[in-house]
Amino acid sequence: MPERISVAILGSTGSVGAQALDLIARFPDRFQVTALASGSRHEAFIEQVKRFRPRVAALAREDLLAPLKAACEPLGIEALVGEEGLLRVATHPDADRVVSAIVGAAGLGPTLAALQARKTVALANKESLVIAGELMLREAERNNALLLPVDSEHSALHQCLRGERREEVRRLILTASGGPFRQSSLEEMEAALPEQALRHPTWEMGPKITIDSATLMNKGLEIIEAHWLFGMESARIQVLLHPQSLVHSMVEMRDGSVICQMGTADMRGPILYALTYPDRWESPFPRLDLAATPPLEFLNPDLRRFPCLELARGALEIGGTAPAALNAANEVAVGGFLQGRARFLDIPRTIEKVLEEHQPAPADSLTNILHADETARRRAEQILMKGVAA
Ligand code: NAD
Ligand code: MG
Repeated sequence: MPERISVAILGSTGSVGAQALDLIARFPDRFQVTALASGSRHEAFIEQVKRFRPRVAALAREDLLAPLKAACEPLGIEALVGEEGLLRVATHPDADRVVSAIVGAAGLGPTLAALQARKTVALANKESLVIAGELMLREAERNNALLLPVDSEHSALHQCLRGERREEVRRLILTASGGPFRQSSLEEMEAALPEQALRHPTWEMGPKITIDSATLMNKGLEIIEAHWLFGMESARIQVLLHPQSLVHSMVEMRDGSVICQMGTADMRGPILYALTYPDRWESPFPRLDLAATPPLEFLNPDLRRFPCLELARGALEIGGTAPAALNAANEVAVGGFLQGRARFLDIPRTIEKVLEEHQPAPADSLTNILHADETARRRAEQILMKGVAA
């Protein structure tokens, strides 16, 4: 490993991006920030740029070039906007590792570009793997680029699988907190407001993934993510609710042994793992005090109240572009719910309708994937507009 690890971050103003920077700041002699990119919150972004002094700073929104330039130029930092800027950050020649932490399908292009540029990618952006797993793995392999999970469950699985032979693994067990509606009735869920759905019991995250956690679509996306990362079919990926969020996931071996990974519910743990793998550094963060933990519970999820889990599993089993359609419909429906245009349970209803109509194509080209994504988005918008029950 190089003396100092140079890191580029896609989505630096987000929940994961900001935690990655917080972590990096605690190891000033061992990490340096080479490039930063974000979407639109330019004031927060400019603060980060001034503090971390990357070589390149990029914002997705094209109309923000003037304020970005004004902040960057006096510091000798290159300022860019639009897709070109994101790609430049993703592929910067000086970066050893790229944290992929843009939310949603928008993360796909830059993440693929990072793999093509042979970067080690610390992947938080699960949506890219959900919609284009086949392409991402192909590019990683072709370019000898390492893809390391940041998602806490997959980081746990990666750790449980270190040194194990794949053919000896019986199944993967993803744990889920269950979100704010774990114990709510269907009627309560029907009437749920965004502020209730945004109140996650154990993790503090960006709004989209927080809603995904409330519908359990997050776990559905994670089943697909685990399928690609660990080459495991759907039937061998189980989901268990674990409200304490301390066991981050488990692997059951064929001899009946179950290996689990535990830690505090702090994303900086999995980020540190992905930025330092195969090494392990001394963590500056609070450690798990096992004697002080509450009793650990494991429960089966209620598939009737949380249909998103099976919708995602179904899309994975159909294969091809079905997961891309699922993801696109989910992004639109979650956006609609957050804007007050859709009810909470309209999210699974919209996805179900979009999937029913989707004509899956092979997901082996970006053209097919983007076509499925756009078609599903348009259809989901129409369904929301007309009213889901119509
Ligand atoms: P967030 O909403 O807090 O942050 C998203 C980041 O992406 C921001 O920096 C935003 O500016 C940027 N962004 C949004 N749209 C963009 C676009 N079109 N182009 C460029 N940049 C854009 O989200 P988050 O919670 O940090 O999640 C990021 C990703 O990590 C998601 O895929 C999520 O599922 C995954 N993840 C998050 C957590 C968590 O604890 N927050 C845990 C596991 C996985
Ligand atoms: Mg997760």
